[in-house]
Amino acid sequence: MEKILLLLGVDAEGKLSKAGLEAVEQARRLACSLPGASWAVGLVGRDAQDAARQVANCGAGKFLAVTGDAFASPRYASDAAAAEALARRSEATLILAPADSRWMRALPGAAHRLGAAVDTHIAAVEVADGAVQVRRWYYRQRIEAQQTRRSRPWVLLMDAGNIEPWAGEAGETALEALPAEVAESWDRTKVVGVEAPETDEQTIRPDAGLLFVAGAGWTKKQPDGLSHLEEAAELILDFVRKTKCSLGSSKSLVELSSEGQAVLPFLTHLHQVGQTGSTPRHPKGLATCCHGEEPHVVGWRFIKERRAVNLDPNCGWAQGKADVLYVADAFAVMREVNRLLG
Ligand SMILES: Cc1cc2nc3c(=O)[nH]c(=O)nc-3n(C[C@H](O)[C@H](O)[C@H](O)COP(=O)(O)OP(=O)(O)OC[C@H]3O[C@@H](n4cnc5c(N)ncnc54)[C@H](O)[C@@H]3O)c2cc1C
Repeated sequence: MEKILLLLGVDAEGKLSKAGLEAVEQARRLACSLPGASWAVGLVGRDAQDAARQVANCGAGKFLAVTGDAFASPRYASDAAAAEALARRSEATLILAPADSRWMRALPGAAHRLGAAVDTHIAAVEVADGAVQVRRWYYRQRIEAQQTRRSRPWVLLMDAGNIEPWAGEAGETALEALPAEVAESWDRTKVVGVEAPETDEQTIRPDAGLLFVAGAGWTKKQPDGLSHLEEAAELILDFVRKTKCSLGSSKSLVELSSEGQAVLPFLTHLHQVGQTGSTPRHPKGLATCCHGEEPHVVGWRFIKERRAVNLDPNCGWAQGKADVLYVADAFAVMREVNRLLG
């Protein structure tokens, strides 16, 4: 009989993240499809009462917690110790956790201490012929593999965005607090503050409904023989601020800076979508001034509805890579779209 432990980090407000709630739904489905399986939730943070209430009705048989000031901020040493304590207490054979920075950092080490196997970037966990199977992508999302392991414990770090988050009613539940032995050596790592961009300055928004991609065409000479970088920056940022979409870029555009050319200063390699960039999961995407070459479009694999604006009717998007291609000047289109958005 499998014993499932779902590890969740509690944030500074005492809440669980969206990725955490997705992992709750994944663990719930797994437990339901494994006859006789039991499952426990293991919470780690300064205080876990509110988080336990948030998921009280998810179906877990037990709620365990490791809490205290030492566990308030994500940190390898304390998180690995907490995970190890929760895994030993629950005698878990399958340990699930969201693949966020907290658990991606701490769980491989904790798995080693537990003598467990660990797999990361899991897209789904299923049961086939009575065996637990995971699905994950390889080679930049080109190959999907189904894998299983006989060895236990087995630690599975679940990628976000693959399942609807658990959204049941909050409730009351008994929380079993595990004694936490805090080591002095943990203080070698301290979180002294958080530096985050202002909400309006933040342009990468994984949860946005729309991905807006800017390509190198925004910096190229236009029909009047001049480039219009300032207007390009204004049009792009105006659209991003008005729609709260997420901003992506082609490789060519972000690389122009390293070649010493004038570029759009708000774009970094973190915005790059594609084979050597990211593979975001927005329901819709709009590419502008971007040619739609394969190494770029491979990053659009999970974008469900794709549109592009390009002057060139033979650009890559026209070769079956977009649902709609507007053969038009992106400056004129975005100027009008921004005007309509008001
Ligand atoms: C190993 C390898 C890995 C790579 N990885 C990536 C990756 O991860 N991501 C990535 O993006 N690329 C990647 N590339 C590069 C990729 O092949 C392309 O070179 C790149 O995507 C081109 O960027 P672009 O479309 O913005 O620029 P360009 O190819 O220069 O295209 C600019 C486009 O803008 C259009 N345009 C110009 N002005 C306007 C206007 N006013 N209105 C509308 N359209 C206009 C032009 O018609 C043109 O189609 C990789 C390449 C290799 C070899």
